[in-house]
Amino acid sequence: MNKFSDYKEEIYKCSRCGLCQSVCPVYKATLSECAVSKGKFNMLNGVVKGDLSFSKQLKKYLDLCTGCNACKDFCPSDIDAKKIFVAAKQRYYEENNLSRLESFFNSYLVFKVILRLAAAFVFFYRLFGFNKITGCLEKPISKTGKPGKLLLLLNSQVRNFINKEKTPDKIRQKEKTALYFEGCFNKYINNQTETAVKKIFYNSGISFIKKDFECCGVSYLADGNIEEFRKIAEKNIAAAEGDFDYILTDCASCLDTIKTYPDVLSSESASAFAQKTVSVIDLIRNMSFTCSESLKIAVHIPCHEEFDLVGFVKKIKNIEYVKADDFDKCCGFSGTFALKYPEISEKISKSKALNYINSGADMVLTTCPACILGLEQGFIETDIAQHKRPVVMNLFVFLAKYCSVENI
Ligand code: SF4
Ligand code: SF4
Repeated sequence: MNKFSDYKEEIYKCSRCGLCQSVCPVYKATLSECAVSKGKFNMLNGVVKGDLSFSKQLKKYLDLCTGCNACKDFCPSDIDAKKIFVAAKQRYYEENNLSRLESFFNSYLVFKVILRLAAAFVFFYRLFGFNKITGCLEKPISKTGKPGKLLLLLNSQVRNFINKEKTPDKIRQKEKTALYFEGCFNKYINNQTETAVKKIFYNSGISFIKKDFECCGVSYLADGNIEEFRKIAEKNIAAAEGDFDYILTDCASCLDTIKTYPDVLSSESASAFAQKTVSVIDLIRNMSFTCSESLKIAVHIPCHEEFDLVGFVKKIKNIEYVKADDFDKCCGFSGTFALKYPEISEKISKSKALNYINSGADMVLTTCPACILGLEQGFIETDIAQHKRPVVMNLFVFLAKYCSVENI
């Protein structure tokens, strides 16, 4: 993985043309020069020259970014801003020793405890049927300010149930084995996705072996906390021992993050882990799906998605694809960005949500749990009493719940 010092030339390459301002979601929401690559490169230029230091304030400005990569795709100098920001944040951690307390709260251990507590909460929340009560009272709850909005956001994550089916008597012989990399959100909060993926592959010739994977580590990578990221990657690689053909993930962000494991670990096992990790969509693109209801479907493309989601969705029979404005732009959630800058995140998500409302879609499909949170956050920010809003759903949950599948 490149160090900050390796990027000096690239930082100089920024001509300050300002074209990145037209595509940066954070700049559009804040109109702050510090939000966009141009402004950040101005500051990093100051660091390279020795006029500025890797201070807490600089880190705060570097965090003012969803990591969407839109600026890279648009930059005439082809500067990979996201990678430079990560390297700069890594340098911040190297130069500023965190107190023991800060290190503890930044650790994966604490994150895991929070996830387990959230999982226990969700379990009892569902068990006592609070999801149904909240679902019926959505409109009055939306008027109760921040706590009500948070409750609605939680509720949006636990309402799509898929019944596990009994194994059919006759199933195709299994030719390949796969490990399912569920990602932390699907593992602890919304395990419907695992059920959905296994249901889609029921008669596909692929069998699953259960392994205890951790989070992919994306939020630690984005934060530049490479030490903690390395530990998470090592745990995942160790958990994947044994013979198997694929590591399957349904999350675009997990896939993108796992592909960086060899950059931080430089080991054969890290390369093998990354090579064997494939997207669910890569293996199901030749299957034929027919929707049981005639629905208008829009798509949200996560910033890390590599696959042609629109092309895939258009092939589903008995649906009508509807194009929403900015369907391929960042949802504004981006993990810890939404926690650090909630108002900006909500503003970006709301403008996305309004586009989907205007599209007239019945459903919005996507492949990243954080994007689902982002879109739901956006719909909650719109006045729900005023609009008929589409349902947001994970693509694979939709395929398992609404579609019949033919393996080709
Ligand atoms: S588009 Fe590229 S070169 Fe232009 S200001 Fe932004 S980062 Fe710099
Ligand atoms: S990665 Fe996205 S949010 Fe970050 S500076 Fe570039 S365009 Fe803005």
